[in-house]
Amino acid sequence: MREFPNRKGVMLIGGMPATKMAERFGTPVMVTDENALRENYRAVWKAFNDHFPTRVNYACKANTNLSILRVLEQEGTFIDAVSIGEVESCLRAGFVPERILYTGVAVSDAEMLALVKANVPINVDSVPQLRRLAKMDPKHPISLRVNPDVGSGHSAKVVTGAKGAKFGIPKDEIISAYREALDLGFSPRGLHAHTGSGGSDPQVFGRVTEVLVEMFERVRSELGLKLEFLDIGGGLGIPYRPEEHPTDLNAVAAEVADRLKGSSVRTLVIEPGRYIVADTTVLLTTVQDIKRTPVKDYALVDAGFNTLIRPAFYDSYHHVAVANKFDRPAESKYDVAGPICESGDYLAKERMLPKVEAGDLLCIYDVGAYGFTMSSNYNTRPRCAEVLMKGGKAALIRERETVADMFRHQKVPARLRK
Ligand SMILES: *Cc1c(COP(=O)(O)O)cnc(C)c1O
Repeated sequence: MREFPNRKGVMLIGGMPATKMAERFGTPVMVTDENALRENYRAVWKAFNDHFPTRVNYACKANTNLSILRVLEQEGTFIDAVSIGEVESCLRAGFVPERILYTGVAVSDAEMLALVKANVPINVDSVPQLRRLAKMDPKHPISLRVNPDVGSGHSAKVVTGAKGAKFGIPKDEIISAYREALDLGFSPRGLHAHTGSGGSDPQVFGRVTEVLVEMFERVRSELGLKLEFLDIGGGLGIPYRPEEHPTDLNAVAAEVADRLKGSSVRTLVIEPGRYIVADTTVLLTTVQDIKRTPVKDYALVDAGFNTLIRPAFYDSYHHVAVANKFDRPAESKYDVAGPICESGDYLAKERMLPKVEAGDLLCIYDVGAYGFTMSSNYNTRPRCAEVLMKGGKAALIRERETVADMFRHQKVPARLRK
């Protein structure tokens, strides 16, 4: 959680009063601080490179806004992409194909062919996928994803590395998968695993590194194949609650580097998504009504799980502040809920806030990762605008959708037209 300054009772975001942003761009709106983005990238790059030569592949499914990708491209990041849409976004943002690593599951032939044509390296998820790729281009740059049997995550829904997960080649089959890749004509470059998302326990990163190093050395000794990189995936967590501590990057990096010592690994790759973007962005949403029920009070706002699904989907905590009463003490308890017609639609539960009235502006923290990218048009609600702050100046980086946008792509057969 970042701290925001207070100017005369109003929260300042990237140097601008939140109320001014809401007036200028409307709500709901997501506002990103460019400096914070650059700081996060540099912090993670430095922490790991202080211990071991490390390439940072930003996991762009967390946030694919083109302007945000531009900032990170300038910073020198590489990319972890999981769909052709993400690949195209990164190419459009100026990344050369060699700076992208595609890791996909359930990949169609059409998508694979597009990756081959675009020259984007593929991190192969299974042996059947490998065989399909061999028919298209047996010289394509590849690495293999293993299921390391080490899982982690903030919710069961995001654990990817546990035994039986749909991701990766089972641990016991990885040597034969490399052998088959060589037989098919490939020159595999790396070994990859991703345990899950939102963990902050350095031990997990150490454990997966240990498992991968052992395989890495077996590939070398049993097959004579010298891989270029060992990729331990992403999953670095952030503190969403005020009482939580920031992830100790140095401790994670030290733990990982310790397991690499004495190995033949020369390049480590990490794939942080959340860590780089989550705390750079807030969601501003306006209170429409206060509803008092016999059980609880609601602050009803113009953003629901169509805008931010993490609370409803994962039971995630996002911190809330009243942006236009930023210096007032908390005195009443509210559930913050949106306009979606489901009682599971909420942004926050049982929060002590200053007394809230209709027209107040709420700020939801840490929405930069899996915020906009997981938003939807449910209830036929247009998606929100996005703004990028730099030096006190605001730039609109995504227009708010309109209701007219909801009709694009729909076709009504002639017999039904009016
Ligand atoms: C989602 C994902 C990541 C990033 O996870 P974070 O928790 O956002 O760091 C990295 N690698 C792969 C393969 C992923 O699917």
